[in-house]
Amino acid sequence: MTPVDTGNLTQDIIAIKNDFANMYLIKDSSKYIAIDAGKDLNVIETELKKLKIDPCDIEAVLLTHSDMDHVAALPLFKCSKLYMARNEEKMLNGEMQKVPGYNNSLSRKDYTLLDDQQTLNIGSVKIFGILTAGHTSGSMCFQVNVKYLFTGDILSLHDGKLGQSVKFFDLDHDLTTKSISKITKIPNVEYILTSHWGVSRDYKYAVSEWKDQ
Ligand SMILES: [Zn+2]
Repeated sequence: MTPVDTGNLTQDIIAIKNDFANMYLIKDSSKYIAIDAGKDLNVIETELKKLKIDPCDIEAVLLTHSDMDHVAALPLFKCSKLYMARNEEKMLNGEMQKVPGYNNSLSRKDYTLLDDQQTLNIGSVKIFGILTAGHTSGSMCFQVNVKYLFTGDILSLHDGKLGQSVKFFDLDHDLTTKSISKITKIPNVEYILTSHWGVSRDYKYAVSEWKDQ
């Protein structure tokens, strides 16, 4: 896996590295929106201190999905609204399980559920949620301000090109592979930001050899 180091990626995107995982912050004047919430609370707390960002300035957290390495620092974000895809609730209530007998869990239950193709405006940030099920039942990609596409764990990046997810970690690997096709033809995307495989700054190149399956 190839996460990026903590720091500014663009004028309005900050990456935070937590071992093999990245979470991201989108800057909106003096506030932030987080994509995912880290693998380890203490690491995220330390990284935010280094960045001089108060966790209460994060006004919303959007979860690409509810696996442990994406939600561990949620208790830090007490001032944030929490969003995830409607279908992801199945991972929490036991309707869907990756490991029999084991449910995903969140530190809070006051989340807002998003439908496929739902648009959300937070401050001046425009978010479009695309349901890309497979890695989990409600894995969701977020297209932010048109040019940024956050993909969570549904795909990998190798030499700047899209690859499949890691089968071992998927609820349904074939469905994940089908879901990738949903995000390979979006006009005006420039960046792909993954949770474990770094960032592409050239969307067209990244998707150029992807074959629908
Ligand atoms: Zn992950």
